[in-house]
Amino acid sequence: MKLLEERILRDKVVLPGGILKVDSFLNHQIDPALMREMAREFYRLFAAEGVTKVLTIEASGIGIAVPTAEEFGVNVLFAKKAKTANLSPEVYTADVYSYTHKTQNKIFVSKNYLNENDRVLIIDDFLANGQALLGLMDLVHAAGATVVGAGIAVEKGFQDGGKLVREKGVRVESLAIVDKMDEDGNLKFRAQ
Ligand code: 5GP
Repeated sequence: MKLLEERILRDKVVLPGGILKVDSFLNHQIDPALMREMAREFYRLFAAEGVTKVLTIEASGIGIAVPTAEEFGVNVLFAKKAKTANLSPEVYTADVYSYTHKTQNKIFVSKNYLNENDRVLIIDDFLANGQALLGLMDLVHAAGATVVGAGIAVEKGFQDGGKLVREKGVRVESLAIVDKMDEDGNLKFRAQ
């Protein structure tokens, strides 16, 4: 998506360790007009899939997930991060491994808001090693629901997540894929 690529090029900061900082429009301050355009693109891509729910993870996914769900006319459910979630029988839980922090964290959603009839579109801001996405997929499967695909704003193509999830047969649509990045701020997007 040209609009997103141009915005990344204009506003990004590249941090050591391969981190792309885009907190002027996506991860801290949020540009609603850009979120709206991304939502329309996700709708165009997944309109035929019979989506009944949009699932994301707090906090950064929510800003894109809300307008996306509005396009589909469905609700957004966001997975919460909590340490005690596995104790409650009223929630589905999954584990997400953080490479950055080298820790395993629980995420959860209430059983009230996800069931076996749901056709779920997962939305997230970044796809890097894929652990957040795999955890969200585990939640959907725990509910007996169906993952129709994943819509990602920025995929870091030089990390393994996209390959890992696509190899599982899941349709992943990323609006911008960064294949190369260096600390001088040079970025190369994958042509798509
Ligand atoms: P994963 O490695 O599980 O695919 O990514 C986990 C989470 O880390 C993403 O949802 C995203 O919030 C965050 N993340 C990973 N890489 C980056 C990055 O380069 N920039 C930003 N802003 N967030 C990232």
